[in-house]
Amino acid sequence: MARHPLFADGFKTTPYWWEAAAPARFDAALPDETDVAIIGGGYAGLNTALTLARAGTRVVVMDAAEIGWGASSRNGGMVSGGLKVSDPKVAKLHGPDVARRIVEDGWSSFAHLEDVIRRENIQCDYVRSGRFVGAHTPRDYEAQAAKAPMLREVTGSAVEMVPRERQREEIGSDYYYGGMVVEGTGALHPAKYVRGLAAVAEAAGATLCSHARVEGIARDAGGFVVKSTRGSIRAREVMAATNGYTGGVTPWLRRRLIPVGSYIIATEPLPPDVTRRLSPKGRMFSDTKKVLYYFRLSPDGTRVLFGGRASFRQTTPEAAGPVLHRFMTGVWPELAETRITHSWSGNVAFTFDMVPHMGVHDGVHYALGCQGSGVAMASYLGNQVALKILGRQNRPSAFDGLPFPTRPLYRGNPWFLPIVGGWYRLSDKIARWRA
Ligand SMILES: Cc1cc2nc3c(=O)[nH]c(=O)nc-3n(C[C@H](O)[C@H](O)[C@H](O)COP(=O)(O)OP(=O)(O)OC[C@H]3O[C@@H](n4cnc5c(N)ncnc54)[C@H](O)[C@@H]3O)c2cc1C
Repeated sequence: MARHPLFADGFKTTPYWWEAAAPARFDAALPDETDVAIIGGGYAGLNTALTLARAGTRVVVMDAAEIGWGASSRNGGMVSGGLKVSDPKVAKLHGPDVARRIVEDGWSSFAHLEDVIRRENIQCDYVRSGRFVGAHTPRDYEAQAAKAPMLREVTGSAVEMVPRERQREEIGSDYYYGGMVVEGTGALHPAKYVRGLAAVAEAAGATLCSHARVEGIARDAGGFVVKSTRGSIRAREVMAATNGYTGGVTPWLRRRLIPVGSYIIATEPLPPDVTRRLSPKGRMFSDTKKVLYYFRLSPDGTRVLFGGRASFRQTTPEAAGPVLHRFMTGVWPELAETRITHSWSGNVAFTFDMVPHMGVHDGVHYALGCQGSGVAMASYLGNQVALKILGRQNRPSAFDGLPFPTRPLYRGNPWFLPIVGGWYRLSDKIARWRA
């Protein structure tokens, strides 16, 4: 098949991030027994492992693929604590008091992430970049302005409204109707972060086993037997940290999670005067659409990385690339001729109440459902699970033990996504026409 004209020579369907930090094999032999067995070697599982290992607990992390292979080495690397959980829908569902605690604990995740990176000296290009959230319509701008005081109070950092006339101070585009800048947010290299986490967890004493797909969890006197493709292990406690890749091993969780594909492209390197114009302050970008865009410059400032839901059906990175390119040129028309070097995807996990969850079901701990915004949140929840196992939580996290809803007949196959996603996309278009 002829190469798409937008694809640069050497075009790849693996993450741009893997050029600097591909997920790694860990061939340690699976021990016969451990204190805690963790299924899933992403931010959640590795943060749990790190905290447990630092406390002297025996812990084994098993991943079906390389350690860090999932969303944790594929994401946009945009770090926020609680922009998603400060959605007004959360207050409607859970009531104002729970919603307030959810927002506060959401932002604690940001502090946790910064603390882990600093304390463990993880080299992952972390910067406190601030984020510009573009308003899709004038109404969205007003809604952002109404929410700004609460965000200011909870984050304790600057949250500034930027009207459309001043928008080019933040982004070289007239696509949005102004927006909100949240200073207390950051950016990192996701694959370096997960690789760094794996290294410090292993150095602290955790056993990491890649290519160990867990196929069964059975109760045993005093704990569990976890069966994997690399053998079985007895464990006092088990944790599922499988997020958008949750499968039949934990059917109760699978019924509560909606796996959604998210797609990203990386452009070829751009001249410095162009990147300075596109992103004068090196911000992270997202917007208020129901089907949002998220985008940024690469950590070295040379390329654009542009992400979004290119499709609500299973599709290939080859098919998603040109769609995302079209979205990107909607924001930055001057990139019309810019070619793509990488196009890739990964799974995120949504929940029916739009809130991340941690808790215990049938004795199995879990931390998942970060609604596509889990760099800080999955890290925080993982750490919270570890503190809970150690009996060291000051108070239970607001995300701990919340009712975890599913829907009748839902078994984990999100057949409704093309319909719901199509409706969301149409609502975004209608909102824009009306603007
Ligand atoms: C394209 C994309 C862009 C994103 N952008 C952002 C962003 O900019 N900012 C942000 O905050 N968040 C973003 N996210 C979300 C964020 O990446 C995730 O919330 C976070 O990485 C989840 O971490 P995790 O450890 O819970 O799961 P994952 O990193 O997905 O790890 C789960 C692991 O479980 C393993 N697994 C599953 N089943 C089994 C089994 N049976 N046995 C063994 N192992 C198993 C999988 O192999 C996988 O490695 C994005 C996600 C994607 C996909």
